[in-house]
Amino acid sequence: MSKSRPAPEAPEPLAPLVDAHTHLDACGATDAATTAAIVDRAAAVGVGRVVTVADDLHAAQFAVRAAHWDPRVFAAVAIHPTRANSLDDTTRTEIERLAADPRCVAVGETGLDLYWPGKLDGCAEPAEQEEGFRWHIDLAKRLGKPLMIHNREADDDLLRVLHSEGAPETVIFHCFSSGPEMARACVDAGYHLSFSGTVSFRNAKALREAAPLVPRAQVLVETDAPFLTPHPFRGAPNEPYCLPYTVRALADVRGESASELAAATTANAERVYGLS
Ligand SMILES: [Zn+2]
Ligand SMILES: [Zn+2]
Repeated sequence: MSKSRPAPEAPEPLAPLVDAHTHLDACGATDAATTAAIVDRAAAVGVGRVVTVADDLHAAQFAVRAAHWDPRVFAAVAIHPTRANSLDDTTRTEIERLAADPRCVAVGETGLDLYWPGKLDGCAEPAEQEEGFRWHIDLAKRLGKPLMIHNREADDDLLRVLHSEGAPETVIFHCFSSGPEMARACVDAGYHLSFSGTVSFRNAKALREAAPLVPRAQVLVETDAPFLTPHPFRGAPNEPYCLPYTVRALADVRGESASELAAATTANAERVYGLS
């Protein structure tokens, strides 16, 4: 997130929408009032519900609290792959407790991030990430909840681990940004692909070739706010209210109507996450 550019103006409303992956705490929410303010801004443009996602233990505790504060907010909890080296027994016990909460609708974000090791101080090594990923896969299966995957430069390794471990019934690749080959592999495996602002980036050629290959029943949409602000607002702070920009860009790439895509992805989110 950059403070160098002003917040994007509100888009034309597009309803109904569910933001399938966002980080309300990183968007500035700290309590019930600040959480409601962000969701109010989203709801005003049709984004009526959001899934707020944890990447560490503190964020997981926040996500479940936020989901109890506001009926429009649902939680997903896990330890992010770059922090998988913090997954000690105490942390596992607490993540399990939070993941079992009825307001928690997925185990995530977990997975593999092969970009940051060696670049980021304290980043979990690939072997530690894989061990953490396997633990989260098992947790999702034990709880019967969807597994939400973070993937950075790890297409083949993710598919390998999912295959060897046995994937949970529902798998979501959040911020899907890979190319056509990975999209086909995920579609064939029955996974769901959640598209973010990256699909609107003009230089994302392979991703824009991949997006039309995904059957509508396997598509979700997300902001990953405050990151990945859609074109033409790159560099400005992202928030769930910006989701209509991404959905219109995705509909454009797929050659379908934005309102039909909005309705379909909302039905998918309701089914996948069991939203009420
Ligand atoms: Zn992620
Ligand atoms: Zn995220």
